[in-house]
Amino acid sequence: MSGPAVANHVHLQVAWRSNALVLEIYDFEAGSSPADAFPFVVGNAGINLTPAAPAFAFLGEAGATFFALPQSENPNLPFLGIGVDNVPNGTFSGNQVNLRLVSVEGPGHFALYQVNAFGQPTLQMNSRDGIDSAMDRVVLAPGAHEHQNWAFSAPGEYEVTFVADAVRQSTGQTFASTPAIYRFRVLPPPAARLELNVSAGMDLNLIVQSRIGARLQLLATADFAAWATNATHLLTDSSWQINWPATGSRHFWRVEEVFP
Ligand SMILES: [Zn+2]
Repeated sequence: MSGPAVANHVHLQVAWRSNALVLEIYDFEAGSSPADAFPFVVGNAGINLTPAAPAFAFLGEAGATFFALPQSENPNLPFLGIGVDNVPNGTFSGNQVNLRLVSVEGPGHFALYQVNAFGQPTLQMNSRDGIDSAMDRVVLAPGAHEHQNWAFSAPGEYEVTFVADAVRQSTGQTFASTPAIYRFRVLPPPAARLELNVSAGMDLNLIVQSRIGARLQLLATADFAAWATNATHLLTDSSWQINWPATGSRHFWRVEEVFP
């Protein structure tokens, strides 16, 4: 299966079938498929800057870039939520099904959170501070339909493993799903551009252009045998200018974006 159209409404779905909890994907147009059938693609429309408010510190340093599928629908991104299907009321103790984070494999951190009408976040899962499946969980009711922010700190391929569990009301027996891997593909932002010009004093100006929130490092070499990091910078403006003294020797430069 090739996966949904870019902006499909899709769910990480917890279903109760034949006396077992099952984790799968539910696409409101294409129907159900296995959890790992296709990656959810976090395109560049999902690039965000970490807010300065301390309540968002779980995402990392204020002003730094993160990548997210948002809880509010964006026509350029999958609209990913969490749903519970086919669980009659009273099946489970407390009418609760837990969705727990088991592991995150990938180049960065994963966080799941909701933001309320006043802009305040409620953190539900976060791998940055270690994963504790007792804490990194969402408590769901039968028929639940929720939307969250699915945030990643760096571009690349992720495998995020979840498990669902609940206690049967009638017997007190705990039911747990098989752990299921969901895949996320976080696309890298556009590359930074590096330009050179010569100032009146004959020094070189290196001008790096990228987006606000990019964390860039300038590397230099005289002979290509070894590149040395010359400077790093978190862009709070759309460009970064570095003055390079004219020493008469030849240099080459390149710029890389670093995460997180
Ligand atoms: Zn939904």
